[in-house]
Amino acid sequence: MENSESGLANDLNLKRLLEHAHIGVVIHAWDTSVVYANPTALRLMRLSYEQIIGKTAYDPEWHFVDEAGKIIGVDDYPVNKVKNQNTRLENEIVGAIDGSQPDISWFLVNAYMENSGSPETSFIVVTFNDITESKQLFSFRDIVENTQDIVIVTEANPIDSPVGPNIIYVNKAFEQLTGYTQDEVIGETPRILQGALTDKQSTQRIHDALAKQEAVTETLLNYDSSGRPYWLEINIMPLTNKYGEVTHFAAIERDVSERKFHLEQLKTKNEDLKALKVTLEKRVEERTNELMTAKITLEQIAFIDQLTNIPNRRYFIDQATKVIYSAQRQALPVAFGFIDVDNFKKINDSHGHSVGDEVLKAVASCFANTFRKEDAFCRYGGEEFAFAVIVKENEDTENLANRLLAAVRNTKVTIEDVEIYFTISLGIKINQATSTTDFELELKDADEAMYQAKKKVRINTLSSGIKLGLLCKPL
Ligand code: GH3
Ligand code: MG
Ligand code: MG
Repeated sequence: MENSESGLANDLNLKRLLEHAHIGVVIHAWDTSVVYANPTALRLMRLSYEQIIGKTAYDPEWHFVDEAGKIIGVDDYPVNKVKNQNTRLENEIVGAIDGSQPDISWFLVNAYMENSGSPETSFIVVTFNDITESKQLFSFRDIVENTQDIVIVTEANPIDSPVGPNIIYVNKAFEQLTGYTQDEVIGETPRILQGALTDKQSTQRIHDALAKQEAVTETLLNYDSSGRPYWLEINIMPLTNKYGEVTHFAAIERDVSERKFHLEQLKTKNEDLKALKVTLEKRVEERTNELMTAKITLEQIAFIDQLTNIPNRRYFIDQATKVIYSAQRQALPVAFGFIDVDNFKKINDSHGHSVGDEVLKAVASCFANTFRKEDAFCRYGGEEFAFAVIVKENEDTENLANRLLAAVRNTKVTIEDVEIYFTISLGIKINQATSTTDFELELKDADEAMYQAKKKVRINTLSSGIKLGLLCKPL
């Protein structure tokens, strides 16, 4: 073994190897004076061979500092540490301040003692390489550890329950929010934070993204160690090694419960407003309907006589004109009628005004039952009524008069067992409808006929009746 090793060493020429190594190598004698420095060491320390060989302490322009930037005393120089404390240094970070340079050069230093037993033949070997570029002035770990956001790192495999994904790191914010300590959750899965109300679709989306090793963002309901739920906005990203393989997932999470709460409140408020709007719309609709009804009532008041509920004089003028036009088109005559209740004043005087009203209503209802919708009829005013009806056949007028008579005959007003009968006088004027027909003049004639009828003596006083006067212009 030894033979082959020494043989290999001879063959390789170890000194030549050191000359070409990319790592700085400085060999100290037991008194710490430098006996050898390879070119990389000289280059990294920016010293010439002459400046270093045989020296025990470096140029006063030079200082070593520790990782925190504090100047190291000569006794704690790597070489002295190894010698005095009889230890070896492994991957120790040391900074070197060269007075001619503004920045610190950072070295990763290893040092050990090549002890052959006697000091004369012992050496201290120091190797180092420049890590200035990778040495950070601050610690990213500190940032992650102390940020208010929650940070969880898991392994990338396995991701499926029950074991995966396996938590390997959580920061302080995680401990604070969840109530779990690092020790409790490392080796567990983030699923322990989920509960009954955690949305299954969201967790499935996260799972799908992890399976595809993709980044994902979700807002998820989690539970702390005491079961209190909170909303987390979660950003998960895959972490890769230098070969581009995804080895871990890092989740950066933020408690958005308050924001979510406000959003919910806003939503509820919006819904309340919507409900209010619906209620208002309904109220407006109801009010519109009320107004419509009121308008219809107003229109009815305008065209319908309030007491008797049959068309009033205003409406009659309109309707009578239509009847005349219609008769004119069909070349037919029109029967204009005028009616007056006989001795109405006496009814009022003997039985009271309200009984008089009842008589008027009774007469009106006889009219409403006798006339058809194409006829014009109305309460003309007081105890007077009028109509205008197209005469299609000669006997139509007689029929109409008979129908009215029958209706009136069957009518009586009973007040407190007293039966009140009445008669009406009816005058009819029949005339051909022409473009010059003036219904007021025609009605005047009808009124004249009615006046003639009124003069007739009443025969039967034990029932209501009609006294008829007829005035026919030659057709
Ligand atoms: P005639 O037989 O000549 O027609 O006599 P009359 O009493 O019927 O006629 P007159 O014109 O003298 O009286 C009509 C009365 O009708 C006078 C008025 O007080 C009454 N009258 C008018 N309108 C109403 C009403 O709406 N209700 C009641 N109860 N009476 C009314
Ligand atoms: Mg009268
Ligand atoms: Mg009268």
